[in-house]
Amino acid sequence: MGVINIIFILTILVLYLLVQGYRRRMKSFTSLWYAGICVAIGGGLLALAVLPNTTFYGPVLYQAPTQEKVVALTFDDGPYPPYTAQVLKVLADKQVQATFFVVGENARALPHLVQEEQQAGHLIGIHSYEHKDMLRLSSGEIAAQLREAKAVVASITGEEPRYFRPPHGFHDWRVMGAAREANLTVVNWSALGKDWTNPGVDTIVNNVMSRVGPGSIILLHDGDSPHKVSKREQTVAALPILIDRLRSEGYSFVTVDHMLSYVGERK
Ligand SMILES: [Zn+2]
Repeated sequence: MGVINIIFILTILVLYLLVQGYRRRMKSFTSLWYAGICVAIGGGLLALAVLPNTTFYGPVLYQAPTQEKVVALTFDDGPYPPYTAQVLKVLADKQVQATFFVVGENARALPHLVQEEQQAGHLIGIHSYEHKDMLRLSSGEIAAQLREAKAVVASITGEEPRYFRPPHGFHDWRVMGAAREANLTVVNWSALGKDWTNPGVDTIVNNVMSRVGPGSIILLHDGDSPHKVSKREQTVAALPILIDRLRSEGYSFVTVDHMLSYVGERK
């Protein structure tokens, strides 16, 4: 059962309790007390599913447990012309390896960009097939989103993707279960540029720098799925500045699979 189903049941329960209190079949204080507990449980379960850095529903890699000054740059929602190629150019100029979480339908339409990512030595994970909110899908639909995205990427790169970033970072038991079935490690983030709001180049850089630390997984966007309307010029412009700032503070850049190795060391 997904968290949305549980919240639906809790909502019915809250309404039932309030009606019972109103009709004096239950003391109004008691009905309000139990309704409040239901609201708290529903709110808590929802928060644990939508916040990127929670492991309540299963193992999510969002930050590596290390004091080494390493960070992972990750790019979501692509491939998306012309920005994916521009991001690749910056990464090549700066000699940085990154991780791309590609949307399956975009990869199918633009396989040459996925190939360029692979040939440049970047790690490629999946970001579902159509960038739908996984919490609203059935278990079968979630599994299909993962299966189709994996198949597209594998057909382009010749390698099975091993990493999955759920759209918006949303994850509950069903999402985690489907990822486990598909042999995918769920990867979220601990530092974000909020670049999808196009807040300005300096703001993107400062957003990341104010949150970054050893082992941070940094979220940026080379695409704009599912709508495919927003520009990513600010991300492209912020990227070399951000890389230089991080290097000047002693950070080096790794891909997400390297971050996972720290988790193994801790066990
Ligand atoms: Zn996304």
